[in-house]
Amino acid sequence: MLTLEYKLRGRPAQWAAVDEAIRTVQFIRSTCLRLWMDGRDGHHITANDLQRHCAVLAGRFSFVATLNSQARQQAADRAWAAISRFYANCKAKRPGKKGYPRFHRHCRSVEYKVTGWKLEPDGRHITFTDRHGIGRLRLVGTRRTRSIETFPVEQIKRVRLVRRADGYYVQFCVQAERRIAHSPTGKRLGIDVGLAAFVTDSEGVSVPNPRYLRQAERRLKRLHRRVSRKRKGSKNRRKARQRLAKAYLHVSRQREDHARKLAGALISSCDWIAYEDVQVRNLVKNRHLAKSISDASWARFLWWVAHDAQAAGVVAVAVSPQWTSQDCSGCGRRVQKSLSVRTHRCPHCGLVLDRDHNAALNILRASSASSASSASSASSASSVSYTSNRTAG
Ligand SMILES: [Zn+2]
Repeated sequence: MLTLEYKLRGRPAQWAAVDEAIRTVQFIRSTCLRLWMDGRDGHHITANDLQRHCAVLAGRFSFVATLNSQARQQAADRAWAAISRFYANCKAKRPGKKGYPRFHRHCRSVEYKVTGWKLEPDGRHITFTDRHGIGRLRLVGTRRTRSIETFPVEQIKRVRLVRRADGYYVQFCVQAERRIAHSPTGKRLGIDVGLAAFVTDSEGVSVPNPRYLRQAERRLKRLHRRVSRKRKGSKNRRKARQRLAKAYLHVSRQREDHARKLAGALISSCDWIAYEDVQVRNLVKNRHLAKSISDASWARFLWWVAHDAQAAGVVAVAVSPQWTSQDCSGCGRRVQKSLSVRTHRCPHCGLVLDRDHNAALNILRASSASSASSASSASSASSVSYTSNRTAG
């Protein structure tokens, strides 16, 4: 699946209609969740029950009825996705919180499937044809990707309207495979992500953490302070919040850009790439803004590594993160060290190496060892467990 995104131009009345559609989605999702929580006559609620409930809601509320029926069902699917994620976590006995489904108060998107919209042949306008009154919107910008009108319309499986701090966007999910032209380099790389350097590879090349992190941190802190100084419910507070949201959006775009470019450069330089299968989710729990931003960057970066690898036909192997920084890449023996020790010194074979470089070598070696069992790029890339759609959300 490919996702193509455009900014939208329209009139305030149309944005009001989009907001209304998003509110309706939120309403359906919440109502479905409530139904599941309460149960019915002691029965467990299933995905089918939620779908049926959609029709009931449409019969009862006119604002639900005017939304396209597939968009309504998609809203119920969202509720079911939250529920089944919770079930899966319970079944897998994941330590810690299981993610009991929560009510959303700030949904940001509405998703149509194959009906309820019409794209004009020139690919510059889209019209929403349900009775929700969004009407005809203009698409602007074709960033880096093929333009949407070059795809057969049957390949467009989803159309999503997204509200962001700086306006409204449309995303098309197109059933097509991404292909990256790749000329073999004969090189195998292991990479280690870390705090000291953003990424270090097994040849000792490291890419420092991007500078926008520190800059962004200062700016975000200031904007956070401004919001908290304004009176609750006041117009000024709303304005301050809007500025803060824009600043966050800016950071996330910089992060995405950085992650994407770096992953692309790495993939084009090798035929085999190994990385740690870090559950970034587990790392994020800390109170420091800069670190949590960089955690999110790693998740996104590794996501791009896996996906670019698949598109380019490069083998990508995720290896277990255990002991990668402790073991000696020279002799294989364990040399315990705390996080603050930046240099690996082996008392057994005398190897002295940068900590991350040593880890990257271990990761590469581990990937070769495990390659016998999982040597296809497709299967390893699809086993990546990062969920990355928070920004698209
Ligand atoms: Zn050694």
